Amino acid sequence: MQLLHAPLAVQDRPCLVVGSSRLALRLAEWLVLHKAQVTVIGDHTTDNDRIRSTSREVTSADIDNNWLVITASDDKSLNSRILDWCNDKCRFCYSIDNPEHASWMLNLSATSPGQVALVGAGPGDPELLTLRALRLIQQADVIVYDRLVSKPIMARCNPAAEFIYAGKSKANHTLPQESINNLLVTLAQRPANVVRLKGGDPFIFGRGGEEIETLADHRIPFQVVPGITAASGCAAFAGIPLTHRDHAQSVVFVTGHLRNGEINLNWHELVSPQLTVVVYMGLTGLENICASMIQHGRESSTPAALVQQGTQPQQRVLVSTLKDLPALVANSEVSAPTMLIIGHVVTLRDKLDWFSPAPDA
Ligand code: SAH
Repeated sequence: MQLLHAPLAVQDRPCLVVGSSRLALRLAEWLVLHKAQVTVIGDHTTDNDRIRSTSREVTSADIDNNWLVITASDDKSLNSRILDWCNDKCRFCYSIDNPEHASWMLNLSATSPGQVALVGAGPGDPELLTLRALRLIQQADVIVYDRLVSKPIMARCNPAAEFIYAGKSKANHTLPQESINNLLVTLAQRPANVVRLKGGDPFIFGRGGEEIETLADHRIPFQVVPGITAASGCAAFAGIPLTHRDHAQSVVFVTGHLRNGEINLNWHELVSPQLTVVVYMGLTGLENICASMIQHGRESSTPAALVQQGTQPQQRVLVSTLKDLPALVANSEVSAPTMLIIGHVVTLRDKLDWFSPAPDA
């Protein structure tokens, strides 16, 4: 079948979902996420006040005045009747048991032997997804996602996919790494199209390597989709070029993660005045990091910026120096995720700051 790939503008437009299944409700919630006005005809209890749910018989008149119809009933003859009505009345319709006759496509099932895509979701702004990442999250049967994957990105995933949270917060490992590695194998063997969705780039402080090593051991086909790493995203949206002919000839990405209360970094390599240092996971150890840099010879007046929730509507940027940043941060109610950028390039922000976050957007 020839398909035209074009996004639908459903905001404030009436859409109809038919069916009492959990899938029907999930599809209704997905339409609501995209701001449609949704009526569900089916037997549901939902606390989502933007879904109007009624349990009654569907008639052909229900099709009128809806832009889009999804029929996900357990009654196959009802689904096929609704599809016929929609075709007669020129309404776009998706039917769960008749996708080949539907006029609108959703990918609800595995179409190939199991495989895994390790996908970088970027730093949060959904428009920073690659086209490939977007396609894969729309086609996935199962999505194993992290805490850092932003809500607007989650809202773009296939609504009928199974979602598994594998996120980690500092102290609270929801799933140990080894369980995640094994889970991906088990899911792919169902078979299913699995997307392992990670913040930023999967190969930068993302343990992506470990996860696909296990897949390789089990001969599960996989691919890796790079994402915009948080350093690039935060730097761009804070107006801080990471290199600049006048200020920095090189840039280094390090992790400030504490292990047994210590940060294991080769400080001597980080104190050259012409080097930009970008620190992932550096909030808890911020004081320690700034002090160690100064102690090993970096000027205490070196500019330093902390970017919180970079690229997102809630982005905040605190600018100071190695000496004074910890105190500023301590008084500013900062929360993770944050990126620490150290170096002369930070001064360029005075001129190059362009992004105006709109927290209420
Ligand atoms: N693979 C990811 C990094 C994972 S480590 C990547 O390539 O970006 C997690 C750390 O990334 C966080 O502790 C924080 O330091 C940083 N980070 C991720 N998203 C961020 C964002 N939107 N704003 C600021 N820092 C972010």
